[in-house]
Amino acid sequence: MQRVLIELRAVTRVYSGEDAEEAVGVTALDDVSLQIGSGEFICITGPSGSGKSTLMNIIGCLDRPTQGEYRFAGAEVFQLDDDGLAALRRDELGFVFQAYNLLESLTALGNVELPATYTTAEPKDSRDRAEELLHTFGMQERRNHRPGQLSGGEQQRVAIARSLMNGARVILCDEPTGALDTAQGDEVLALLEDLATQGHTVIIISHNKEVAARAHRIVELHDGRVVSDSASLTAMNATLEPPQALVGGMPWLSALRSGFGALRTGGLRSALMIFTVALGIWSVVALLGLVEGANREASSILERMGANRLSVGGMEMVDPSIWLRRSLPRTLEDAQAIRQQIANVQSVVPSMVEQLPVRAGSKQLDDLFVRAMLEPEARTQVQNLPWPVDHGTFLTPRDSDELARVAVIGPKLRDQLFGPGVDAVGEHIEIKGLQFLVKGVLTPHPRLYGEGEYFVTDRESASSELPYYSFAEGLDVFIPFRTGAELLFSSENLTRLDVFVADLSRSDETAAEIRDLMFRHHGHAGYTVENNAQAFAANRELSETQAGIFATLGGLALLVAGLSIMAIMLAGVSQRRREIGIRMAVGARRRDISVQFLVEAALLTTFGGAGGTLLAFASSPLLSQLSGAPVAMAPWFLPVALGCAVMTGLLFGTLPARRGARLDPVHALAEE
Ligand code: ADP
Ligand code: MG
Repeated sequence: MQRVLIELRAVTRVYSGEDAEEAVGVTALDDVSLQIGSGEFICITGPSGSGKSTLMNIIGCLDRPTQGEYRFAGAEVFQLDDDGLAALRRDELGFVFQAYNLLESLTALGNVELPATYTTAEPKDSRDRAEELLHTFGMQERRNHRPGQLSGGEQQRVAIARSLMNGARVILCDEPTGALDTAQGDEVLALLEDLATQGHTVIIISHNKEVAARAHRIVELHDGRVVSDSASLTAMNATLEPPQALVGGMPWLSALRSGFGALRTGGLRSALMIFTVALGIWSVVALLGLVEGANREASSILERMGANRLSVGGMEMVDPSIWLRRSLPRTLEDAQAIRQQIANVQSVVPSMVEQLPVRAGSKQLDDLFVRAMLEPEARTQVQNLPWPVDHGTFLTPRDSDELARVAVIGPKLRDQLFGPGVDAVGEHIEIKGLQFLVKGVLTPHPRLYGEGEYFVTDRESASSELPYYSFAEGLDVFIPFRTGAELLFSSENLTRLDVFVADLSRSDETAAEIRDLMFRHHGHAGYTVENNAQAFAANRELSETQAGIFATLGGLALLVAGLSIMAIMLAGVSQRRREIGIRMAVGARRRDISVQFLVEAALLTTFGGAGGTLLAFASSPLLSQLSGAPVAMAPWFLPVALGCAVMTGLLFGTLPARRGARLDPVHALAEE
């Protein structure tokens, strides 16, 4: 006694015309009631247009009727949502089509495995089962062949194996032998008959009399109605196992695998998309490189030119009638107060300069700049510049504390007093009758001596921006601050009082605070604080504007790449309607289809992004040469570029993915 597995009650399917107003529908199925038992081998027959395919689509959960009820193993099918129908197709129903409907991108084995990729089955188990099924149908030798390399009969055997992959109880076959010669058709029919014997319910749709003759039961349709049924089921009480609840879905790993497969079969199309993305990302990274290069150059210029330097000064009028002015006093106490009381101060460099004669033995040079500097600030200001001590050492704070009579001299002075190349360290020089031990000799100044890659500015103000090393052509003499102030110089007033700020953006406030402090100390409002930062502000703003333009250009490049991807992928969706239909037939939910397209887009853009980034890194020297601008690549470009690429892919892949996921499986499958 057979149990009822499929039960249709008064099922009607009306295809409404394009225009709903017309209300002239084609009634493809008209009040069809049918019971099909477990393990039946049944043929649904009838002339063309009688509604056979419509009936199969409804039994196969690919389509919904206009009216009626459908119970599968006791469960109400039409009450299920799209995911529920997908789960039924995946777990309970197998399809065998006239046109085989195998995916050309997959091998025979891959095609058989396909339905399992939409379950939570372990890939290893699925593979074993697929191998076993292929073996059962004598296809194990050909498991790595693509559908195009197989004969029709072989393809249909692969399709039958696929329909059994998830253990379907029902195999639905729409004209399964329609494209085969008699011998191959007979073979396929024999296989299907075997399956029925093993307990599967096999439903064949055919208008072929010979096929119908092999079935155990024939149901004939005419104009959408059942006109004859060779058997009638008597057993009614179904105690069948109802379909399982929906579990699983397309795991990411299999989405990735199918994504890679799609890229491979995409061939030229994939290559073009990757190339487009690579170009977009290349421009983004190249532009980032230009900005980075400009910024690095700007900050190195700022550093070398002392943009963070504030010069404290001021003049007062002594006699207006003859325009006689003199410098306002600046003292060591001012310097110490500024350092202690003002927050944004990195260092304070008080210095005293007098023009004095310097002699060694019989040689004397008049009017040399003798500079007294307070350590350790002076050291950072002089030694951090590309102008280190060549021989000996620089001055130390102790030299100042101990009033040491030591000096560091420029190379040109060394040449003139002691002879070119002579190691003057340990020798003595005489300044205003005092003997100074030469402690160190500076290297030739790169800017002055034309060596090294020292920054040469076009600005006329350059020499005033570079106070410590540019205006004496290697004839400098540096001595400890207190030695100069207390033993040598005629005045206790500072010649320069420079303050280096920590935060450049706050240098205006710091300058104001310094003016206030000087006013409090000396009661004079004439103090000025020269702010170098202002001189460079224009520079920086320019580079921010450039950065803005570059960012816009980069964004446009990405937009173009994204739109191209979208266009190509949208075309891909319509080209791949049949593939989508097949995937849906074997159980893919709409979500699985959209995940698949998104993963493909993300893969494409990841490859394109990586390629574009590599290209940009590799081409940066050339770009720098061609543009004449510095181009610098930073490691953080890589994650940013890849992030941009993947985001572009996901963003512009969304529309194609939705298009794909929204396809109606019946229509998608009907595509040739
Ligand atoms: P069969 O498979 O027996 O040839 P079908 O089920 O394909 O019959 O078609 C039954 C009837 O429904 C036919 O008149 C056909 O033209 C019509 N039909 C089928 N599919 C559609 C559709 N998508 N839209 C409108 N009419 C359709
Ligand atoms: Mg048909």
